[in-house]
Amino acid sequence: MRLLKISALKWYQLISGLRKRGGGVRESGAFLLSKIGSDRICKIIFYDELDPEVSASGIIRFNGSGYIKLWPLLRNWGMEVVADIHTHPDSNTNQSFADKSHPMIRLKGHIALIAPFYAMYRWINPNVCSAYLYEGSFQWRSLDQNFPIKTTWL
Ligand SMILES: [Zn+2]
Repeated sequence: MRLLKISALKWYQLISGLRKRGGGVRESGAFLLSKIGSDRICKIIFYDELDPEVSASGIIRFNGSGYIKLWPLLRNWGMEVVADIHTHPDSNTNQSFADKSHPMIRLKGHIALIAPFYAMYRWINPNVCSAYLYEGSFQWRSLDQNFPIKTTWL
């Protein structure tokens, strides 16, 4: 199991960005990128940067055309998506049926995070979120006992 690292500053920017986009009334989300083969998350792409209508219904509905914008960026930067994150309205960070049946990246080993309360806290330690490992064939494993993301100062 890989342990991902993210700087505390980048995590703060991530949570702030989710909070701002959600405004306490709708879900928001982002892709977390690393250089290929690296465990350090070094870039965030919010879903609305690829699909401006992603949160229009209140829940995440990422249009397939967003991937057509995403793939060339990854290629140009030499990066891959190692995880995604989206918010839920309340304390329930269990995966919904839609979450389970629509992995944002359909690769074994992909990690999906769910942040509570539309990320409205000023600071959320990563392990306030729930984490799920994609095992292929729409099967997921909870990583809450073995949390896969750690913040670092640098
Ligand atoms: Zn969800």
